[in-house]
Amino acid sequence: MNFEFTEEQKMLRKTARQFVDEEIMPHIQKWDAEGGFDPAIWKKLADLGFMGVCIPEKYGGSGMDYNSLAILCEELERGDTAFRTAVSVHIGLNSMTLMQWATEEQKQKYLVPQAEGKKIGAFGLTEPGAGSDVAAMSTTAVRDGDHYVINGQKTWISLCDVADHFLVFAYTDKSQKHHGISAFIVERTFPGFSSKAIKGKYGIRAGNTGELFFEDMRVPAENLLGKEGEGFKIAMAALDNGRFTVAAGAVGLIMACLEESVKYCHERETFGKAIGKHQLVQRMLANMEAGYQMSRLLVYRAGELKNKGVRNTRETSLAKWQACDFANKAADDAFQIHGAYGYSDEYPVARFLRNSKAPVIYEGTREIHTIMQAEYVLGYREDKRLSHMLPEWPFE
Ligand SMILES: Cc1cc2nc3c(=O)[nH]c(=O)nc-3n(C[C@H](O)[C@H](O)[C@H](O)COP(=O)(O)OP(=O)(O)OC[C@H]3O[C@@H](n4cnc5c(N)ncnc54)[C@H](O)[C@@H]3O)c2cc1C
Repeated sequence: MNFEFTEEQKMLRKTARQFVDEEIMPHIQKWDAEGGFDPAIWKKLADLGFMGVCIPEKYGGSGMDYNSLAILCEELERGDTAFRTAVSVHIGLNSMTLMQWATEEQKQKYLVPQAEGKKIGAFGLTEPGAGSDVAAMSTTAVRDGDHYVINGQKTWISLCDVADHFLVFAYTDKSQKHHGISAFIVERTFPGFSSKAIKGKYGIRAGNTGELFFEDMRVPAENLLGKEGEGFKIAMAALDNGRFTVAAGAVGLIMACLEESVKYCHERETFGKAIGKHQLVQRMLANMEAGYQMSRLLVYRAGELKNKGVRNTRETSLAKWQACDFANKAADDAFQIHGAYGYSDEYPVARFLRNSKAPVIYEGTREIHTIMQAEYVLGYREDKRLSHMLPEWPFE
């Protein structure tokens, strides 16, 4: 066990924090109100090497370890959940999945430009009738010569109008249930593809989320990821990486809640003293600190397992479940500490509370992770080594 950050990781945190303070903080209230951020941010993220932070240099990335990805997610979500969500889908769900499952040709064509930040990746699994129950999906892919023809719809897809590439999951053989789902690399430019944003979201308003439509969309057969029927396994493996980034982001949100709350506790006085002197307010801060410290240990443990090339579905699920729950509670308490001022947009805590809700739902709801953890302790669920694992760090 080593609880020390490396010099490289310390530098990454410093750079990411400065980026958030200078490029996100001054604008976020406006972006959140308007429902979108300045697209110039993508180029800035790419220039800093963030878009491929834990992708090997030979594939256009920065070659840092998996806990460096966690550090980046913490710092971005301290700014706003929309930016961490973007990194979660671009790196966690898409690029890391390509790194794990793609052929060399697919990596060169799709992973390299994504890691360099020249193209943006996203992940289309959820459908109107299939969220937690992935196998209830109805999108189909039918082989037609050297193409697959995909028909169906996805919903609640982050970066739906922004991403260039999507990992899309569809049935190639419905009779095989989970074993009949396949994964495809889809480009926005493929004929038959369209997208539409969902308006009126509760939180993550600066981010883009919405629907994907596939109408006789022709996808070259070489864009099948893995083998036919491996899609469910690939989706679940992708979630091991996406959930890791969501958990790390939640740590960053707790950090932001603590920062704002401590500041306000020193400023605001009631009954002749700073509110930070009231024990019931102190309890809220103490709970935030506990949630922060526990969550980050869970996250870094999962990251260390990834570095060692060890399957970590169990540890990542626990980290995601607990960190998101702690962040949701921390945001609620930060709001409470601000009293009526929390209710206005003069302070960011209402945005924190709104933003803290989706992570309790996406990438496995609180209930799904609760069930998973119970199944592990009961011995009903066991993780075996996959045919394709994430590369160990340091990379070759
Ligand atoms: C902002 C945002 C961004 C998203 N981005 C993406 C994305 O980029 N790509 C993508 O594919 N998806 C994305 N999603 C979708 C997300 O992953 C799903 O919403 C999530 O998997 C839950 O599915 P659902 O909403 O259909 O809820 P349902 O599965 O319908 O669940 C409804 C309720 O029932 C509970 N429940 C369901 N099954 C059980 C059970 N067996 N036992 C106990 N309780 C159960 C759930 O916990 C929940 O409380 C996003 C969602 C949001 C809100």
